[in-house]
Amino acid sequence: MSDQNLNLKMHDAKTLAAGYHSWWRYVEIFSIFAFFTLIALIVRRTWSVSEGRGFLIASAFMTGYVMADFISGFVHWLADTWGSTKLPLIGPGLIRPFREHHVDPKAMTRHDAIETNGNNCLISLWVGCICIFMPLDVEGYQSLLIFIMVALGSMIFWVMMTNQFHKWSHLEAHELPGFIRFLQRAHLILPVGHHDVHHTAPFDKYYCITTGWLNWPLTKIGFFKTLEKLVTMTTGIIPRADDIGLDAAIKVAPVVVEPQAQPEPNATRS
Ligand SMILES: [Zn+2]
Ligand SMILES: [Zn+2]
Repeated sequence: MSDQNLNLKMHDAKTLAAGYHSWWRYVEIFSIFAFFTLIALIVRRTWSVSEGRGFLIASAFMTGYVMADFISGFVHWLADTWGSTKLPLIGPGLIRPFREHHVDPKAMTRHDAIETNGNNCLISLWVGCICIFMPLDVEGYQSLLIFIMVALGSMIFWVMMTNQFHKWSHLEAHELPGFIRFLQRAHLILPVGHHDVHHTAPFDKYYCITTGWLNWPLTKIGFFKTLEKLVTMTTGIIPRADDIGLDAAIKVAPVVVEPQAQPEPNATRS
């Protein structure tokens, strides 16, 4: 279905960009500082139990890499699909950047390191605390607990890197160092062309933005479509109504819905 047939009603890019408040920037700065403190403590804790466990730690690290791609897709799907920029706290802070990104994909390439990485540091803090405080010395379960700690620690590290990988995928080749282009071509981080699939209206697939490895299998099994069906059938909420407007959202919803039964989302429209 073309954009015209869908009758997209997106937010206004300037209003979205103006929604980045200075108080949120302080939250982001604190989050980045706290995040790297936690990562340093996790590395120290891992080092203290690493003797004779090289393979276990390497496999946990790789597991965390794959988990991060899944989490990036799941959080991206949540923020793209549900909620509104008008929600208290998470609206302007966490949901607004996702709306802005669909209206103006290049906007994130103009964001500095704090605005790019602050949000992902914030949402990772509680997992970092689990890694620091979870017990490791339980008789018979040491290897499993160490695996879980390293996998979670690796996962939040790659989750933190996700917006950076995402931002690089929106830059032109000549703007990137050769090493980053090599990582993109090797598909070790999100490649450029691969991510274009998500930026095609109605923005309803290929949500994973760390490496993008899970996009194909999750689309193949209809993972996010099935979740959307379940949410709409149990709550009646239409996916993407705040992102692309109610009319377009109803047209592409995975379950048939009655247009008149839906309240117009409370959002500023262009
Ligand atoms: Zn998106
Ligand atoms: Zn993007």
